[in-house]
Amino acid sequence: MNVNRLYAVFKKRRFAPKFKKNMRTDRTFTMLKPDAVEKGHIGAILEKINAAGFKIVAMKLTQMTTDDAKEFYAIHKERPFFGELVEYMTRGPIVAAILEKDNAVEDFRTLIGATNPAEAAEGTIRKLYAASIGENAVHGSDSDENAAIEGAFHFAGRDTF
Ligand code: UDP
Ligand code: MG
Repeated sequence: MNVNRLYAVFKKRRFAPKFKKNMRTDRTFTMLKPDAVEKGHIGAILEKINAAGFKIVAMKLTQMTTDDAKEFYAIHKERPFFGELVEYMTRGPIVAAILEKDNAVEDFRTLIGATNPAEAAEGTIRKLYAASIGENAVHGSDSDENAAIEGAFHFAGRDTF
């Protein structure tokens, strides 16, 4: 058994379950996407986020580069919409934020609604502000692990409160 293999077994047995167990469940990551910013919906969307009980622990107006968007959405790189998604997400500023609340990931996905606004529940952010399945106003992390990865992609520790 070589060193790398030994390390993999050790990591799996000793660290991975511990890491999962200690994974925080009270944070998610969001972006108010370029269409929402262009249409002047920042205030209205933040209002809904606050009203739903999320605390903003990091926030900034920023613009993703093409490399940023390709990396952020790497999981979708084989999908037919990947090129359009990267174009869209880089065409103007976004609001990136880390949000805190119990059960943050799931509750935020409920608040934003289905990816396709035509299928989103009444009162959800995407139902109210999204134009289409592509330009759907807002991002929400899909797991605690991705929330941590995506938050760290945009914010240094000292910019998170
Ligand atoms: N998207 C798209 N066409 C699709 C599915 C998704 O343009 O058929 C875009 C859309 O902006 C979506 C993003 O790709 O928000 C990421 O897709 P995902 O399936 O992860 O949806 P989400 O998690 O954002 O609801
Ligand atoms: Mg997703």
